Amino acid sequence: NGINFDAYEDIPVQATGENIPAPVKAFEEIDLGDALKQNIKRCKFLKPTPIQRHAIPVTVAGRDLMACAQTGSGKTAAFCFPIIRGVLKRRFSPAGRGGRALACPLALILSPTRELSCQIYEEAKKFAHGTGVKLAVAYGGTPIAQQLRNLEKGVDILVATPGRLVDMIERERLSLRMIKYLTLDEADRMLDMGFEQQIRKIVEQMDMPPPGRRQTMLFSATFPNNIQRMAADFLSNYVFLAIGRVGS
Ligand code: ADP
Ligand code: MG
Repeated sequence: NGINFDAYEDIPVQATGENIPAPVKAFEEIDLGDALKQNIKRCKFLKPTPIQRHAIPVTVAGRDLMACAQTGSGKTAAFCFPIIRGVLKRRFSPAGRGGRALACPLALILSPTRELSCQIYEEAKKFAHGTGVKLAVAYGGTPIAQQLRNLEKGVDILVATPGRLVDMIERERLSLRMIKYLTLDEADRMLDMGFEQQIRKIVEQMDMPPPGRRQTMLFSATFPNNIQRMAADFLSNYVFLAIGRVGS
């Protein structure tokens, strides 16, 4: 739906951090695995957008990322690819997860609204097509019962708004102790909507013991002080990418 790729072609990209994985010109240059490669073709993604060229090598390498980019720049793939790749690698680990009554996803994607969460969920489902990776979506303003039943079916990747997520945790139907991948999408909007305390509470729930450190990916259109603080608090040894002109 309407990315003007030519307009993005010459967009300036600022990258900072240690040992930044090099950007790519084609998806084929990145080790994404067969399933993802096939699904990228099915989605008719012919070549990566500028943010994808820089961000996918970073995220697939397992690095934390702070990315500033406008809507429509193709961020969803940048955080979904490493998640799906990672979930497929870990699913067969012997450690049992959760059980019927308590969902223990491996990946959490937080976004500010129902609409955005549903968009991410739909896009992520396309990338995970045919893999058996289980996705669920949770948002407020609608009865929680059906969403809880969906969790019971098992979930690897949960897309959620902060309020509904906290509700599920408080009902003891969801545990974040297995979270290996955390994405905060449209973080500036989440903070504008007053979700900061809830987000901090959520992140506190997921301290994985070593050696399985969590990978955190933070996305925002702007880079004001409160987002800079979050990056400092939640990310480690991260790569910073700014695509185009970034306001603060
Ligand atoms: P953002 O989250 O930055 O607003 P999205 O990830 O939602 O952007 O992407 C916007 C649209 O562009 C989606 O419909 C997505 O399927 C499409 N898209 C993303 N990357 C590509 C690509 N490399 N080739 C073709 N279409 C793409
Ligand atoms: Mg998006």
